[in-house]
Amino acid sequence: MRFLKIFYNGKIITLSDSISNATAFATWKDRFFAVGSDSYIKNLATGINENFESIDLCGRTVVPGFIESHNHLSMYATQLLQVDCSCTANQSIDKIKNSIADKTKNIKHDEWVRGFGYDDTMISDKRHLTKMDLDDAAPNHPVYIQHISAHFAYANSKALEIAGIDKNTAQPEGAEIQKDANGEPTGVLIELSAMRLVNRHIPAYSGDQIKNGIIQASEHYNQHGITSIHDGAIGFEGQGSEIVKCYGDLESQGKLSIRVYMTMVEELFCNFFNNGMKTGFGSNVLKLGSVKAFQDGSIQIFTAAVNEPYHSRPDLTGELVIPQKRLDSMIDRYHSAGCQIAIHANGDRAIESVLQAFDKAHKKSPDKKNRHMIIHCQMASDEQIERMRKLDIVPNFFVNHIYYWGDRHTSLFLGPKRTSRLDPLNSALKSGLKFCLHSDLPVTPINPIFSIHTAVNRISRNGETLGAEQRIPPIEALKAYTINPAYCSFEENEKGSIEPGKLADFAVLSENPLEIDPHHISNISVLATVLGGDFVFNRLP
Ligand SMILES: [Zn+2]
Repeated sequence: MRFLKIFYNGKIITLSDSISNATAFATWKDRFFAVGSDSYIKNLATGINENFESIDLCGRTVVPGFIESHNHLSMYATQLLQVDCSCTANQSIDKIKNSIADKTKNIKHDEWVRGFGYDDTMISDKRHLTKMDLDDAAPNHPVYIQHISAHFAYANSKALEIAGIDKNTAQPEGAEIQKDANGEPTGVLIELSAMRLVNRHIPAYSGDQIKNGIIQASEHYNQHGITSIHDGAIGFEGQGSEIVKCYGDLESQGKLSIRVYMTMVEELFCNFFNNGMKTGFGSNVLKLGSVKAFQDGSIQIFTAAVNEPYHSRPDLTGELVIPQKRLDSMIDRYHSAGCQIAIHANGDRAIESVLQAFDKAHKKSPDKKNRHMIIHCQMASDEQIERMRKLDIVPNFFVNHIYYWGDRHTSLFLGPKRTSRLDPLNSALKSGLKFCLHSDLPVTPINPIFSIHTAVNRISRNGETLGAEQRIPPIEALKAYTINPAYCSFEENEKGSIEPGKLADFAVLSENPLEIDPHHISNISVLATVLGGDFVFNRLP
């Protein structure tokens, strides 16, 4: 491995205002030290040391490494040990039953089978799983499957038995153990306190299991050109301190192939905050990020807090998670202390509540510039976008919804009018607001190129264009996956563009997303990913 490398004969999308038409760059250790033409870069490198490594990009396009600004890598790491019950992997309940039965062949008799990603609205059977389905697949093992929304779970008879749940079990507060006409549990558990009755009996993952999962997950991210992430809610599924420790161990062993900005649920963040640490503390590989909070649920299960009732459920408008007064004081506490908050808000009513809290906190401490984020932010109005701009809040839009749920948003959840301005990227762009895009993996697959494609085209699974006026140019979608999320972690001077002095994080693409027919952006593949000057994924010919 040489300290000095040059990459030449490429098309470099620098995203820098001062460097255009570059075809080459040089890296010294983990940073770019020069960017320009092939001859300029070769001359510079030769002048420094003739013994440099030279990589021919063969005319291919280079972009800054993608920064995935809201996803759950550590959650995905442990899901790699589980059964994938998503519709990407299975079309029917029968197929899921086979996958569960296969899993039982490789584990001990009393070991739990866990699964994730089940979506009752997408599966061909169009219903929830039951304990009978799971008993069929695994009669001797306890089974626990989580719904894609994380608000439902399914347990088999063995799991219910271990949890001591039967027809006499009282309903937990704010949640439901679903029961049939005879009062017997069906295996469906609704909301967290019902799920908790079962999942608290599942043994925690070991540190080695988590670390191996993180290594595998990071490799998967690297294959998609990703060099940095914001891990979206560490501690949400428990084991938060263990996950942070695993990240720390991997960093010190030089085994972390991705830079991690750790967003944490408040309970975990407090351990750091109450002991003197703030947002931004750490190295350029592992950093303390923001406090994560939730102010509503998901549009696709009718729990996002919306102003107008849901299209097919006029009786529902969703609920705010945190009462306004408590939200105000929570946001004020962290804002005034100089910490960043990343708050989940999908519906327009939840966004309103969050903006009110940010507004009050900002009035009390106007000098704090914390670059707070609204995660998902799907139903923001123009007026709310304008307020975000004034408060320097970054909306982090979940544009993949247009593809994955867009058709059902039109017919079931929101109706055509609200769907057409879901994830209003162009409104944000026109207002001059910086914004990010994300996958929320494991909710949708990790693939920045595909998310960029969706932001540019807004085409649903059924091929409908939903809200053409909210499409944005490819360059803006690219910024939402590079320089804008770098801004969110206060690192716009460290990464997010290809410029001398910045970390040498970049991806080599098969085609240029700024020149290809926009409808074909999703066909672009990642050929190589480089983190701090070293390949972490390489399929260059
Ligand atoms: Zn998330």
